[in-house]
Amino acid sequence: MPARAQPDPNRPRYTLTVNVDLPSNSVSGDLKVRFTPDAPTDKLVFRLWPNGPALAGVGSHLDVGNITVGGTAAPSSFSNPTTLVLPGTHPAGQPVDAAMTWRLTLPGAVNDRVARIGDAVRLGSFFPILPWESGVGWDDEPPPPQFAEASTAPTADFDVTVTTNPADLGVLASGTQDRPGHWSATAVRDFAMSTGRFTVATATARAPDPVSVTVGASAGTGVDPAQFAAKAVNVLQTHSARFGPYAWSTYTLAITPSLSGGIEYPTFVMQGPSTIGRTTSHELGHQWFYSLVGNNQGRDPWLDEGLATYAEGRYEGTIDGFKTASIGAGAAGHLGEPMTYWGNNHAFYNQGVYIQGAKALANLGDLNLVDCALRIYAARNAYRIARPADLINSLAAVFPNAAQVMASFGAHP
Ligand SMILES: [Zn+2]
Repeated sequence: MPARAQPDPNRPRYTLTVNVDLPSNSVSGDLKVRFTPDAPTDKLVFRLWPNGPALAGVGSHLDVGNITVGGTAAPSSFSNPTTLVLPGTHPAGQPVDAAMTWRLTLPGAVNDRVARIGDAVRLGSFFPILPWESGVGWDDEPPPPQFAEASTAPTADFDVTVTTNPADLGVLASGTQDRPGHWSATAVRDFAMSTGRFTVATATARAPDPVSVTVGASAGTGVDPAQFAAKAVNVLQTHSARFGPYAWSTYTLAITPSLSGGIEYPTFVMQGPSTIGRTTSHELGHQWFYSLVGNNQGRDPWLDEGLATYAEGRYEGTIDGFKTASIGAGAAGHLGEPMTYWGNNHAFYNQGVYIQGAKALANLGDLNLVDCALRIYAARNAYRIARPADLINSLAAVFPNAAQVMASFGAHP
């Protein structure tokens, strides 16, 4: 087994303040980031995902102001509502400091990553974030028209100060709460949080190092958080035995209303009230496939969704059903398609990417050996943004015919 790759020591460092203000139905703050490109670039790019069609269509909006680069006011423009461009020349290896203020207008009780249901607020993909892909440059995939993600972000460190109005709102978030109102999240590619009136349960997993599991169930959900915590502990231990050690010391799950499934962020997941079953194991699968090994979710959605569905199927005992699932026309043979394809064929998205991805892996052969190949993939590509060739190469280390099998489902290097 190859040693796990380490996070880039020159990764971006974000300092973020977040003020959740329920009376004004908005969330605002300051963002500072120190970024060191590994290739020369003539701009900085930030993605503002709440301005994509799905969230903007229900009333969310993210505004920015007071933009500086290197301490001086910077020109800026939008190439589309989700893409802020700051022109300027930056050589490789030279740190650059960017800063801005931001303000997010909240939508209502929508089934998505930014939502407000009374005191419960979901904040995922909610602040401007750098879409830099090491060795490639800026990722500019369009936002998907429906519930899905297209974000790509490098592993980074986040130092986050949260205030709320009213002041006694509960907050659950990525990373570790090291003092009141302050979170630090290290070697993660995004930061997300939820507020609410939470009943909290805690537990410890051995995955194999100790992982502090925190589950908060928002008032009115009728959920016993201890049940979710017990399941999360089991899944963390099982997934880590299959795919390699869980990479962080915390895992936090916020259960909030008006959410039908789950939404994954590094070390932090949002789930709806009736999702203890396959959603818990699926979203935890994303801690290896999306969170640890990143991918461009717009260009290669199967790399995270197909692998998380495989992890779910292995844990839940449903993998044989995925292995023999019949995949319909429009989905069969299209596993490797980008979100631009699935946006136009949304009815086939789950079958074509999630189920077909798990099916393709299960058809490689002995499932214990598939787990082994995915463990190799996770070790080699940890903290990176992987491409289809990286997965196929790792599969081929165990299954010499892997490229042929994956190609038969429409996935190519
Ligand atoms: Zn998923």
